[in-house]
Amino acid sequence: MTRITMQNPIAELDGDEMARVLWALVKEKLLLPYIDLKTEYYDLGLLNREATNDKVTIKSAEAIKRLGVGVKCATITSNAARKAEYKLNNLFPSPNATIRTILDGTVFRRPISVSCIPPTVTTWKKPIVIGRHAYGDVYKAAELPIPGPGKVELVYTPADGSAEQRIIVSEMKSPGVVQGMHNLDESIRSFARACFIYALREKLPLWFATKDTISKIYDGRFKAIFDEVYENEYKDKCTAAGIAYYYTLIDDAVARVVNGEGGFLWACKNYDGDVMSDMVASASGSLAMMTSVLVSPSGVFEYEAAHGTVQQHYYRWQKGEKTSTNPIALIFAWTGALAKRAEMDHTPDLAAFALRLEAAAIKTVEEGEMTADLARIAQPAARRVLNSWEFVDAVAGRL
Ligand code: NAP
Ligand code: MG
Repeated sequence: MTRITMQNPIAELDGDEMARVLWALVKEKLLLPYIDLKTEYYDLGLLNREATNDKVTIKSAEAIKRLGVGVKCATITSNAARKAEYKLNNLFPSPNATIRTILDGTVFRRPISVSCIPPTVTTWKKPIVIGRHAYGDVYKAAELPIPGPGKVELVYTPADGSAEQRIIVSEMKSPGVVQGMHNLDESIRSFARACFIYALREKLPLWFATKDTISKIYDGRFKAIFDEVYENEYKDKCTAAGIAYYYTLIDDAVARVVNGEGGFLWACKNYDGDVMSDMVASASGSLAMMTSVLVSPSGVFEYEAAHGTVQQHYYRWQKGEKTSTNPIALIFAWTGALAKRAEMDHTPDLAAFALRLEAAAIKTVEEGEMTADLARIAQPAARRVLNSWEFVDAVAGRL
């Protein structure tokens, strides 16, 4: 059989633990036999990040920028426990945070639907994609405990030396707490652009919601910037593609999400996205069925599985167990990246391969062969519960 050729490479970012084991397995059994795979390989495994003083992470992000497409395996975010476990000298920031900062990107999470894993919310017919603004608000807030009566103010001191501005937050009569948070127009604008780019690419209506009736200046700014980006940059494209942009209040949005059919992109402010992405993930079935893509406002895409390195399975694998870890989100990270490469390079046979591989993975589960995480919730029940190696073989058979 002749293998499909690729015109241009994608950036490949390897990772840690069980996700790394599955990464190699998926490449060996589902990609290399069919594709003359062209990648620029970066090893983001914890030990190589340590050995390169984390330079490899920065290089990999630059490669994604240069090549336009990347695919990433889950990586360990180092902390004190990992420092001891891997005998590290340093603690580096989460690779995802480093890459997100370099690409100035927004993360979109999308559940993979299979007919035998019904969503908990029975009205949902199509996936709900969450786009989370990952800058500022409560995640970069300043907080202060207030011990007793006194005046709390917000003060802005302009860098150009012009008059300072201050407003009273509260004349506090008793002990309490206070918080000050911020966001940046440019970050909100990048977020809005990434959402419109994603909505157009995936042909999904875009919903955005805030509480601008209460927060007239802060949330009001988010609404105004989305309106401005839509009107000035995307209205014509959206109209031509039949993509609606819909703004509503956050509480109204939540009510509609729970009663609706799904099938849209929900752009969320940072906190809303944190909370709602976990709600949508768990109501959709399994963390192992959630894909994630980082989209930069310049149109660069990085694909990954939403789950982590599946640490506990890795320790069991090290002891010789053939674990039943679900590789579907990892497979979809690869198919997403390959389809994007195919679109950029105009190579329809590579695009067709990505679709066939996705279909083979879904068909395997829908025909009753699945890993243990899905078998726990499948309706009708699984015919065979497979370990990861058996599952990948079952997909390869159908492919
Ligand atoms: P996790 O790796 O996502 O795993 C949490 C649990 O979810 C697992 O123990 C497993 O449950 C289940 N699970 C996740 N993916 C699965 C899969 N593919 N198949 C079957 N079950 C799956 O999260 P974590 O344990 O909190 O984090 C482990 C490491 O991953 C940490 O070092 C963290 O820093 C890192 N992490 C990386 C990323 C990333 O790179 N994008 C994201 C999140 C976490 P059972 O044990 O019940 O089977
Ligand atoms: Mg969360």
